Amino acid sequence: MNGLKNYPKTFSNLFKIMQISLLLAAAFLIVFLTDGTRNVYLQLFYIPLILSAYYWGVKGGISAAIISGIILGPFMPLSVSEGIMQSTSNWVIRLLIYMLIGYIIGYAFNRMARLDKEAQERNLINPLTGIYNTNKLLIDLEKRIEEGEKFTLISIKLTNIESIEKYLDYKIVEEIIKGLVSGLEHRCGKDAIYSSSNDEIILIACSNCKYRENVNNTIKKYSNPVKVKNYTFRLALKIGMYDYNGGYESPIEIFNKARIAYEQGDSKESGIYYYKDELEEQRREALEITGSLLEAIKKNELYLVYQPKINIIDNSIVGVEVLVRWDRGDKKPLGPSVFIVIAEEIGYIREISRFIINNAITQIIEWKNKGIKINYSINLSAKELCDKDFMEWTKQFFKDNEIDKSMFEIEITERVLAKEGKKVFDILQNLRNMGYKVSIDDFGTGFNSLMSAVEFPVDTLKIDKYFIDSLNRYDIREIVSAIIKYAHKLKIKVIAEGVETERQLKVLRRLKCDMVQGYYYSKPLLPDEFERFYYEFNNLEEEYQKVQ
Ligand code: C2E
Ligand code: MG
Ligand code: MG
Repeated sequence: MNGLKNYPKTFSNLFKIMQISLLLAAAFLIVFLTDGTRNVYLQLFYIPLILSAYYWGVKGGISAAIISGIILGPFMPLSVSEGIMQSTSNWVIRLLIYMLIGYIIGYAFNRMARLDKEAQERNLINPLTGIYNTNKLLIDLEKRIEEGEKFTLISIKLTNIESIEKYLDYKIVEEIIKGLVSGLEHRCGKDAIYSSSNDEIILIACSNCKYRENVNNTIKKYSNPVKVKNYTFRLALKIGMYDYNGGYESPIEIFNKARIAYEQGDSKESGIYYYKDELEEQRREALEITGSLLEAIKKNELYLVYQPKINIIDNSIVGVEVLVRWDRGDKKPLGPSVFIVIAEEIGYIREISRFIINNAITQIIEWKNKGIKINYSINLSAKELCDKDFMEWTKQFFKDNEIDKSMFEIEITERVLAKEGKKVFDILQNLRNMGYKVSIDDFGTGFNSLMSAVEFPVDTLKIDKYFIDSLNRYDIREIVSAIIKYAHKLKIKVIAEGVETERQLKVLRRLKCDMVQGYYYSKPLLPDEFERFYYEFNNLEEEYQKVQ
C-alpha cells in the first residue's frame, strides 16, 4: 500500500533524473562538436546544474557539478581539431568552481523552499490558539475522504465568549480558549484539533474513538463555572456533530453540516446536537424568509390588524392591540412570532417597528377624526427598547404628530424583563415619567418567581393565555386571583389574554380582572372590520351607516 502511495513520487524523480541526464549529454555533445572546452559553449553546463539544484537543493547542485566537472574533465579535449588535451589543474579547478556554484545555488533554493514552507505553515495556524486553522482542516478532510476514512466532525461553538470578552480582559478569553484546547488535545490528540475563529473549535474524531465520551467530559467541565484568574464564569458550549460515512461530499459541505448542527437549541445554552437532513431544508427556508422579509415593506406586504381590548367592568372597548401581519402571497403563511424574531436577528426590526408606528398612528388619527377614541398598544422587543436612535425617533414622531402619549401603551414581554433586568427597568421608568403607558405582556411566563415582574414600573399586566386556558384548574384560578389582587394593590390594571369562552369570562369577572382580549370578543381585525365592530359593540349602527 505504502509502495503504491510513493509511486507518483518515484516516477517524478525518475523523470527529473532523465531530464538532467539529457541536458548534460546535450551540453557534452555541443562542447565536443564545437571543438572542446576552449569555446564558450561549456557555459551550457550551468543549465542542468541550476535545474538539479532547483529540484534537490544543495545535494542536487553538488551532484550535477561533480558530473559536469568530470565529463568536462579528463575526456574532453581543450581543442578537438588540434588534439590538445586540458591540463589536470584546469579541469580540477573548474570542477571545484562548479561545486562551489552548485552549493551556493542549492543552498539558496533550499532556503527559499524553507521560507515558503514556513509561510505555508503559518497560513495553516490560528495565531490566537496556536493550533491548525480551517485551511488545514479542509486539506486534512480532503485527504481523509480520498483515503476512504469514516469519521465524525465535531464543531464546538463558544456562544457567550463575546460577552465575556466585552466585560472582562481579552487575555482571560485567550486563557479560556487555550485551556479548552489543551484539555481537548489531551483527550483527543493534537492532530485532530482545529480552530476557525476564537469562538469555534473543530475536532475530527475517527469512528472508533471514544470521542463522544471525551467531548462530553470536556463540556461538563467547561459548562460548570470555570475560574480563570480571579473571575468565575460559565461558558456556553454548543456542539454540532456530523457523521461522515463515505460517499462524495466536499470538505466544506462536511464542515458546514457540523456547523448547521449546533445552530439548533437555545443560542446561549450548552448542548450537543447532531446533524439531520431537515436542518438544511429549514436553513434554506430561513434564508428565503430573510431575503423576502427585507423586501416586505417595499412590496407592501406588511399590514396591521387591531384586536379590541374590552373593559369587563363597564363593558366598553378600551383600546386595541396593534399586531403586524405579513401577506406572503402563495407562500406558507408566517406569524409575527416567527418573522419578528428573524427581523430582530438580522437587525431589520427597527425598520419594521417604524413602519408599524407610522401606520398605526395614521390609523389612530383617522379614527380620532371619526370620533373613535381608543387607546392603542404596540409590541416592542428589548432590542428596540434599548435602541436609543429608535426611541428618539419615536418620541420625535409623537411630538410632530401631536399624539397624546397617555393613549399609547408599549407592550414588553415578561421574558425580556427577566433577561434584561435593571437596564430595561430604567428605560421603562423614563418612558412612564414622560407620560407613556407600559404593560407587561405574556405575564407569568418569564420569571421564576411569579410576582417579581410586578416590581417593574408598569401600568398593566397581561396575564398569559396559558393561565386563561387553564382557568378550570383550582390552583391556576388561585394564582390568577393572587396576581390580580397583588396588581390592584400596586394600582396596576390587569388584562387577560386569549379569552375564548364565556366560561373563562365569567371566572375572570368573578376574580375582578379589569379587561380581556381574545377571540371571545374578536379576532385581530382589519381597520374597516374594527370600525364595524366598534359601532356594533356600542350600538351605534346608525352612526356607522352615516360614516360609510
Ligand atoms: P402577543 O403580543 O402576546 O399577542 C397576542 C397574540 O395572541 C396574537 O398573536 C393574537 O393574534 C393572539 N390571540 C389573541 N387572542 C387570542 C385568542 O383568543 N386565542 C388565540 N389562540 N390567540 C389569540 P399574533 O398576532 O400571532 O402575535 C404573536 C406575537 O408576535 C405577539 O404576541 C407579539 O409578541 C409578536 N408581535 C405581533 N405583532 C408585533 C409587532 O408589531 N411588533 C413586535 N415587536 N412584535 C409583534
Ligand atoms: Mg402583545
Ligand atoms: Mg401576549
